[in-house]
Amino acid sequence: MSFHSQNCPIVVHTPTPVQEIHAPLLERMGVRLLLKRDELTHPLVSGNKWRKLKYNLLYAKDQGYTRLLSFGGAYSNHIHALAAAASLSGFEAVGVVRGEPGRQASPTLQFARACGMRLHFMARAQYRHKYDEEVLGRLREVYGDFYLLPEGGSNARALQGVVEMVAELERQLHGAFDVVCCACGTGGTLAGIAAGLHGSHRRALGVAVLKGGGFLHRDIARLLQEAGYEAAHWDIEQGYHFGGYAKITTVLLQFVQGFYRDTGIALEPVYTGKMMYALHELIGQGHFQRGTTIVAIHSGGLQGWDGIRQRFGVDLP
Ligand SMILES: *Cc1c(COP(=O)(O)O)cnc(C)c1O
Repeated sequence: MSFHSQNCPIVVHTPTPVQEIHAPLLERMGVRLLLKRDELTHPLVSGNKWRKLKYNLLYAKDQGYTRLLSFGGAYSNHIHALAAAASLSGFEAVGVVRGEPGRQASPTLQFARACGMRLHFMARAQYRHKYDEEVLGRLREVYGDFYLLPEGGSNARALQGVVEMVAELERQLHGAFDVVCCACGTGGTLAGIAAGLHGSHRRALGVAVLKGGGFLHRDIARLLQEAGYEAAHWDIEQGYHFGGYAKITTVLLQFVQGFYRDTGIALEPVYTGKMMYALHELIGQGHFQRGTTIVAIHSGGLQGWDGIRQRFGVDLP
């Protein structure tokens, strides 16, 4: 089945497959681990970035907007997905990039440019105030009117697409799962999962990829409230950020490489690698009761490897 509508001509392959992971650890601990291969939605607009964009794009089209504007760093998966999605669905796009133009050489920004996205570099001091009316007003003066997507694409409308992914899971697994786990940056994806889960025995588990992710609890609660969802039980693991956002250690890298060797599935070390590492540790520690079925979300982000290769000189196998 594919998503196709007059308003948003991006053909996406959903439902994305669910694949069981086999490992001696899982057998020993009596836990089932399934991976929702949501990185396979679309070669350029993948994973949670597609899920979060979908209803925003439909809404923006419906409201007659012709231009989208959003924010991100020089290696942002959201900027990458937005640039591709805008170009595929006939929007102009402006990417406001944190930092100085010197970082325009990142593969992510080169790709965004090639998609026709206009890049606006913003010094860090101002970037912190990016949602202030004054800053947005100046951006409107330069670029004209736009539909604003927050950093990471996480707003109330983004939750709807993630809820749809959970509904997909329900159908695919006939409801036979207990925990849904994802990597957490802004928390929009975890909020959507919590919103989409039903049943008191179910829970959503997020793995924070940033240090000091205490803000996540407040932001997720706010997103759920704004979107008007009754959420299932959700929680965040704060102990697996490996030093902070986009910080990579040898241990983490070796884990991601080993996972690829064992399963043939590519993760990346910024998001999904940290999530899978955390799950591996938690399962080993007996955090999950025997008989638990966990669904981990492969939220995409593999484009990030281009930047990782460039910055760290390391690769998958
Ligand atoms: C952006 C991103 C996340 C984080 O999603 P949030 O909704 O911001 O928490 C997780 N995984 C990947 C691969 C991402 O690109």
